[in-house]
Amino acid sequence: MSLPPGYLDRLRDNISLTDVTSRWVRWDMRKSNPEKGDYWAPCPFHEETTASFHVDDRKGFYYCFGCHAKGDVVSFLKEKRGISFMQAVRQLAFICGMDDELASNDDESHSAEPLNLLQLKDLIVENFDQENFLEIGVLSGWTNQIRNHSRLLRSLSWRDPDYPGNVLDLITRMDDAGDGSIEKLRTYIEEKFSIEAQAATDAVAFSAAKRSLGYNFVRSRNDVIGVMMPFGGRFGQVYDAIKRSCETTPLPAKRADEVWNNSVLINDILELINHSAVVICDLTGRNENVFYELGIAHAWGKPVIPITQNSEDVPFDLRHHRYLTYLNNSEGLGVLENQLSSRLQGLVGEKP
Ligand SMILES: [Zn+2]
Repeated sequence: MSLPPGYLDRLRDNISLTDVTSRWVRWDMRKSNPEKGDYWAPCPFHEETTASFHVDDRKGFYYCFGCHAKGDVVSFLKEKRGISFMQAVRQLAFICGMDDELASNDDESHSAEPLNLLQLKDLIVENFDQENFLEIGVLSGWTNQIRNHSRLLRSLSWRDPDYPGNVLDLITRMDDAGDGSIEKLRTYIEEKFSIEAQAATDAVAFSAAKRSLGYNFVRSRNDVIGVMMPFGGRFGQVYDAIKRSCETTPLPAKRADEVWNNSVLINDILELINHSAVVICDLTGRNENVFYELGIAHAWGKPVIPITQNSEDVPFDLRHHRYLTYLNNSEGLGVLENQLSSRLQGLVGEKP
């Protein structure tokens, strides 16, 4: 895909290079001069104890006088995270709210496309019986090819392991024939198995939606319990209680900052939500990031357990979700631990 004209310049204007680099460096404030947008730190690209890495925040460029690393906010993120140029652009666009333009320009999106051959094959294998094949034969004029296919109907009736391959063989022939038969098959499936077909297209739209957030879709592992909460001292003991309740289940608790060494970007959080079997969100203090993450978890169909120290912090729209209130003291956290354990065990089972 290509970027809209002038897009990179606007992106650089909208995002502070210092904000992004701050995730990896500790500024030398004796040498830096924030009023002039002048920042110095030990270099994140080579080992050193002195501060030879310079950021000119006004111009949006960095340069290291030790290893000569240089570039802008996009190249910085690309290098530090080992991602592609476009992935870096997408992550930054997402952070500063410029991702709308990218989405409309996104020629990788497949959400509006008709069912492809592999989706058709899966839908047929899951849903078709002999009668469906004969109906397709009548509608498409392929009755002879279907009846005379050496293995298709026989492997269907015996559910032989070569059945999916025979289905694919038939539909690729229909596609190659260019006689309109594949379109008739597609229409037939979309009408006859509309719910199943919708689910297949939704799955594609869903992964396109994930991509438009700057996140490369991977199949969910559902092997952790994601914890979304504000960072900071008084939440440390809350997280300890949450971890203990997760220990009564087969799955470990994970908080974004644990997985990614404090350099958390939104992409990491999306990754964590995607792989979570359950997401616990602490709404205490109405932290905006936690609310945002809760919204994504809901949209992606994850079971969410909201917890809070104050039910006033639960927005009206979420009150119908069963949330847990707790007190942040040793007695209150003990109660939270027990309630959370039984809720989690109900969702993912007990530790064997
Ligand atoms: Zn360097």
